[in-house]
This record gives sequence, C-alpha cells and structure tokens, in this order.
Amino acid sequence: MRNVNDRRRALGQHFLRDAAIARGIVDLVAPTTHDLVLEIGPGQGALTGELARRAGRVIALEVDRRLAAELRGRFESVEVIDADARTWDYGTLVAPPGGRVIVLGNLPYSVSKPILMSLVSARRAIGEMALMLQREVAERLAAPPGGKTYGSLSVLTQLYCDVRLALRVPPGAFRPPPQVESAVVHLRVLSAPRVEVPDERRFHTVVRAAFAQRRKTLGNALAGGLGLASDTVRRGLAAAGIDPGRRAETLTIHEFGQVVTRLS
Ligand code: SAM
Repeated sequence: MRNVNDRRRALGQHFLRDAAIARGIVDLVAPTTHDLVLEIGPGQGALTGELARRAGRVIALEVDRRLAAELRGRFESVEVIDADARTWDYGTLVAPPGGRVIVLGNLPYSVSKPILMSLVSARRAIGEMALMLQREVAERLAAPPGGKTYGSLSVLTQLYCDVRLALRVPPGAFRPPPQVESAVVHLRVLSAPRVEVPDERRFHTVVRAAFAQRRKTLGNALAGGLGLASDTVRRGLAAAGIDPGRRAETLTIHEFGQVVTRLS
C-alpha cells in the first residue's frame, strides 16, 4: 500500500512557503474584482489566499480530496472543485463582463505537459496565465529560435500566446523542496494565432515531425516524419524559400507557417 510520502510525491505536493514569491506570482496577472481566476492545484492555499483577496471570483481544481476539503473550510468564497486538471474542461470558463479569465497555478510537474496542452486547446476561453513549472519546461515554452531549448512545445505555445519567463524560484521556497529548479511563465493569449495557417492541426503535425528527429536536416526529418517523398518536401521547402539543409530549431514560427502552407 502506498504511504503518505509516496502519494505526496506522485501528486507533486511541494508547497510554496514564501509569501513574497506567492505575491509576486499573483502580481504577474494582477487580478481585480472584475476577473475570474481559475487556480490549478491549490494544495495548502499559498496562492489561493492571495487570489481570494484580490479576484472577483476564484475557482480551484484540486485532485487531493483531503486538501480540497480543508481549503473549503478555510476559503468560503473560493469554489474548490475535486477535479483532475488534465481533463477538466477549461472551455467552459466565461469571462465576467469587463473582466478576464486568468489561469494560475504551481503545477504538479509530472503532469504539467498534459495540463499545458489542455490549456492551449482551450485558449479561446482564457486571457492570461501565470504557471509555475519545472525550470527546463518553462525555458522551453519561452525559448526563441536557434537553441537547444527551442522545440515543438515552444512553437505550439508561441503560436497562440506571448510567453515570458517571469520568475525563477529556488527549491528552498517549497516544503518539501523539489529536486529540480522552478520558474514561472506569464502567458498572454493572442486574439488570433501568430501566423495564419490553412489548417492548424496540420501545423501541429508538421512542427512535431520537424522536431522529432532534431539531428536530421529539415528536409529529411519532414520526409521521414510525414511519410512524404524527398522530392515533394524539397519542392515545398524551395517554394517556402527554406533551405532543406537547415535544422528545425533554426526556423521561426513564421517560417514554419510558410512550410506548412507549401506542404499542404
Ligand atoms: N499551489 C500550492 C502551492 O503553491 O503551495 C500547491 C502546489 S503543488 C506543486 C501541486 C498541487 O497540485 C498539489 O496540491 C496536488 O495535490 C495538486 N495536483 C496534483 N495533480 C493534480 C491534478 N492532476 N489535477 C489537479 N490537481 C493536482
């Protein structure tokens, strides 16, 4: 049988103990009484208290029923929902008149990527986000082209959001301290995707194929990953003005847009 420590580890329960950092995270999105804030993984309430003081309405999703019950007792105004943040339907959120939908949370790191994917899929319902992540993941989200950290996660997030690496947080700010460093990203959802593409799903497929074999040239990675003849890929890349000998990590989002348009 799993003991309490195993359960805590599995749920990524590293609780923020630094009130100044908690305030700094909430300051990034500066909620007002007009806003609806959805908190992911409130835990023992380090961020929840600050949100309850400042936002008009706060909803919190917590998978640990014991913690959720404690929070209900402490914060009457917060709607604490027993839910898995990977599968909750963020598309149901509606901005209050004159206000924003803000998503904020110190995410459980082992499931941060599926949560991020659900949030990006529901982007039309969300205005801004402040998310604490494992530092490497935060750096990948915000990375510009040209380096090893730039990949499909960067391109597919930046297609829909302005992303800024806002705060670094050391392990000592949490109890128990995690074994990795943490960072907070601030995301503002764009009113339309950064580049116009004929088919967004195709854009995702092409970007994932381009980065799936990072060491290959773009031409070879796309031919292999998309199951296309090398000649077809070469012609498409030539029409987009892209050298097939380049690597995926050197392409801007706009260049990916050109590639997708020419390969569709
Ligand atoms: N926000 C608190 C803080 O900063 O101190 C706690 C953050 S802790 C890193 C992550 C929280 O997410 C824990 O309370 C954990 O129980 C919760 N959690 C883990 N997996 C979850 C999931 N799939 N859906 C919702 N909450 C989850």
